[in-house]
Amino acid sequence: MDTVVAQDLLAFDREHLWHPYTSMTAPTQVRAVVGASGARLWLSETGSPADAVNVVDGMSSWWSAIHGYRHPRLDQAVKDQVDRFSHVMFGGLTHAPAVTLGRALVELTPEGLDRVFLADSGSVAVEVALKMVLQFQRGLGEPARRRFLTVRGGYHGDTFHPMSVTDPDGGMHAMWKGVLPEHVFAPQPPAYDAATGEIEAWATAFKAVAAEHAHELAGIIVEPLLQGAGGMHPYPVACLEIMREVADEHGLLLVFDEIATGFGRTGHLFVSELVRPDVLCLGKALTGGYMTLAAVVTTDHVARTISASESGVLMHGPTFMGNPLACAVAIESLRVLTRADWKANVARIGERLRDGLEPLRGLPGVADVRSIGAVGVVELEQPVDVKAATDAAIAAGAWLRPFGRLVYAMPPYVCSDNEVDTIVAAIHAATHASLEATA
Ligand SMILES: *Cc1c(COP(=O)(O)O)cnc(C)c1O
Repeated sequence: MDTVVAQDLLAFDREHLWHPYTSMTAPTQVRAVVGASGARLWLSETGSPADAVNVVDGMSSWWSAIHGYRHPRLDQAVKDQVDRFSHVMFGGLTHAPAVTLGRALVELTPEGLDRVFLADSGSVAVEVALKMVLQFQRGLGEPARRRFLTVRGGYHGDTFHPMSVTDPDGGMHAMWKGVLPEHVFAPQPPAYDAATGEIEAWATAFKAVAAEHAHELAGIIVEPLLQGAGGMHPYPVACLEIMREVADEHGLLLVFDEIATGFGRTGHLFVSELVRPDVLCLGKALTGGYMTLAAVVTTDHVARTISASESGVLMHGPTFMGNPLACAVAIESLRVLTRADWKANVARIGERLRDGLEPLRGLPGVADVRSIGAVGVVELEQPVDVKAATDAAIAAGAWLRPFGRLVYAMPPYVCSDNEVDTIVAAIHAATHASLEATA
């Protein structure tokens, strides 16, 4: 690609392509990725590789690229499957990649979760999970149970039903009030280091909301242990135990949306190992960030009850269900994950983030510094100046994508100590730059 074509790349992009949550008339700056390898990206502000800078990816491409880029084994898995076949419909047909992945998910996820639906993205997985819950209640002869209980501060995706269980005020979808079905919101769980009294107060409020709406509720859906895109909020496992209790008491299914937390990010392979849900949604890191794929895993009891609903089947079946390329790379990603010492890596990265970010606590303009697993978060008092923060982070050697009042990192598990330190330096630089720009 020569320089003229490279300039065309960004010019055409600016004129014609929407980016996530952006305006077509006043687009924010985008940089061109001209290469990626390991935990690193080559970013160009002109589109030309000649101008590219090499930075550490602190985002894992929205939390998905846990093994970094161009992993030799993941690359090979995709190539091998291309040489067999890239896609076939899943209606009436099956194939080894889907079956091998299904078997791996049944084995890796907690005991009892062993019925698998392969969906094509996280949002679709949440749609399918909600549909499963509604069909379960219908199978029990309870069609009037069709609302969901969730907590404030959550995020479950951008399609309409996932939006309806996402935080109605603070989230990305506040403008849709009146359009979305209205679900039931309990208070946000307290912070992960909350005192017992605080947890008890939250439990009382959660139980009261559940009891008030019990007759119309079908299920509970939450991101367990860590609310992600809604605000990077880790909370106590005791809250999950309460949710399990409440679900059992009122005949509700408990759905854990582990699209962000799955595959080791919080220090647990799945949070569902701590408290077992009835339905588990997986996505993002499932394919090591190579392709879009998600899965919904549930119990035999739920599957059988769905079959007793009026249609007798689970009413969902996307065109690209069980895409063989995506399944093949997911299988290899799970092998790489489980054969490496992911737990040690997550702990090592988490500790370095924690120690490195601690000095920012108490800085004027910084509201909080927190971490869980391989996640490090700095919360400012004011919304982050994204341009100032991003420019400063890149100058310090890392790619970060702050949102709201948060500057944070979720690095690939393959980051070396030096690369984590670079991410820490970039978070410091981004924090200072944003504070100066908004002062
Ligand atoms: C990202 C995310 C989703 C949506 O996944 P997409 O693949 O973007 O549709 C849903 N739930 C959670 C918790 C997520 O982090």
